[in-house]
Amino acid sequence: MNLILDLLFPNRCLGCQNIIDANDAVCDACVSLIDFANFSFTETNLLEQKCRLLFPTEKAVALMLYQKSGLSQKIIHELKYNGRSIIGKTLAKWTVEKNILSSFGIDIITSIPLHPRKQKERGYNQLHHFVEYISKETKIPYSHNLLKRNFYSKPQAQKDREHRSEIKNLFSVQCAIQDKHILLIDDVYTTGNTISSAAWELIKKGNNKISILVMAVDF
Ligand SMILES: [Zn+2]
Repeated sequence: MNLILDLLFPNRCLGCQNIIDANDAVCDACVSLIDFANFSFTETNLLEQKCRLLFPTEKAVALMLYQKSGLSQKIIHELKYNGRSIIGKTLAKWTVEKNILSSFGIDIITSIPLHPRKQKERGYNQLHHFVEYISKETKIPYSHNLLKRNFYSKPQAQKDREHRSEIKNLFSVQCAIQDKHILLIDDVYTTGNTISSAAWELIKKGNNKISILVMAVDF
């Protein structure tokens, strides 16, 4: 069945439309067109600076810069809205290759959860393949169950307070976790409000330290 589907609807590079392996997102040539962030290799880490304005941050890194109508946006869109959860693995592979996390001293990896209803609608959480691949390659354990999202969509009152760095009760911590260095993963960092809200819960509930990894930053 898959073979027939592959023949009828071959997987195409999101950059140049050439036919590529079913699990890939872009061809080797188009990988070089992606704007990788490489924050960890520069002295000024803008993401880290922005995070530290919102919550106590150990380290913060991003894989890509989010280019409007560019390749990184297409990749994230496929991953989130087009059923291509496997692209998370490609992004994780690039992250591991860049050796971004080796010096962080992370105890456990987790990611921003979807509300169960949302996850059921989408059929998957777009961060899980990413988390699992990074965990496997770095030998750092992961959990998909540290955090729970409390609302299907943000209540109006919270939307009104969007500018505040801490959105109340957006997430709950549902496992006892104490004094750990947690790597918190999300897809796109924009205002930082979501990730900040999750980070504060983990800090307040168990005196944990938080580092951030995002697939892309969109400042
Ligand atoms: Zn290509």
